[in-house]
Amino acid sequence: MIFGGEVWGGQLMLTTMVDNFPGFPEGIMGPDLMEKFKQQVVRFGAEFVAKNVQKVDFSQRPFKVWVEDQQYSAKSVLISTGAYTLWLGVEGEKELIGRGVSSCAPCDAPFFRDKTAAVVGGGDSAMEEAWVLSKYATKVTIIHRRDAFRASEAMQKKVLENPKIEVLWNTEVVKVLGQQKVTGLKLLNNQTKKESEFSVDGVFVAIGHKPSSDIFKGQIDMDEKGFIKIADYLTKTNVDGVFVAGDVADPRYKQAVTAAGKGAAAALDILKYLDEN
Ligand code: NAP
Repeated sequence: MIFGGEVWGGQLMLTTMVDNFPGFPEGIMGPDLMEKFKQQVVRFGAEFVAKNVQKVDFSQRPFKVWVEDQQYSAKSVLISTGAYTLWLGVEGEKELIGRGVSSCAPCDAPFFRDKTAAVVGGGDSAMEEAWVLSKYATKVTIIHRRDAFRASEAMQKKVLENPKIEVLWNTEVVKVLGQQKVTGLKLLNNQTKKESEFSVDGVFVAIGHKPSSDIFKGQIDMDEKGFIKIADYLTKTNVDGVFVAGDVADPRYKQAVTAAGKGAAAALDILKYLDEN
């Protein structure tokens, strides 16, 4: 039984073209890939439930999982809850989410036709957001806190060669400006320590992700950032019978293909565990 969550599909539902998943030489849209994943597991008899898990109890066997006040028992559990977007936490940001503040260019870029947009971050996500926005906006400004991107060379190239995209290096956003909608940003150059106001119609935050592991706190070992710790092999947690796969346990690779591979490894380990127990 798969509890996929009310908003199932994870981060791939918020992305456009996925070029690095094997088997799709022309690339595939993220949501289409997730739909195919779902169809494939259902074909083999998995029951898919688009509901959220509220809490778990791994202290007794069978393990207990609560879903909208209904309690399920399981001989084994695979945690693959992924990760979610981080926000800057600056003044004005939360209030203006959906009114010019976004974390999803593929979702919101069409609203920026003939407008200007800023993207915060220096990783692959920021590059991708800027590239998607450049198809609609008149100008896209990437605001990055350092003087170098951490994004892959190929993604950097795509962005730096785009005449619609410019970069503000060594710059931090200290406030999002605007009442009913975003009108600009208050910026700080962290080298010169100079503050300035920057006029822009919207800001896309792409500064990384946090593992979705809150409901497992106290039940299972995790690191200080909330990534679930792998105790043995690729997939075992510190609780015998509870396994993990994907971004919720992966601070390093975070790719669809690595997550899928670990899911396959976890499935094999679970079969072995059930046979032996
Ligand atoms: P990331 O690689 O962790 O990059 C986060 C960026 O945000 C970094 O440049 C970081 O700056 C900056 N940042 C973090 N906290 C900040 C803050 N409070 N204020 C301002 N800037 C901040 O995250 P990501 O770009 O989301 O990528 C995550 C993983 O997904 C990576 O492994 C990436 O390769 C993968 N990914 C792949 C694709 C693709 O292949 N198509 C697309 C998207 C993501 P510093 O550099 O100074 O630390």
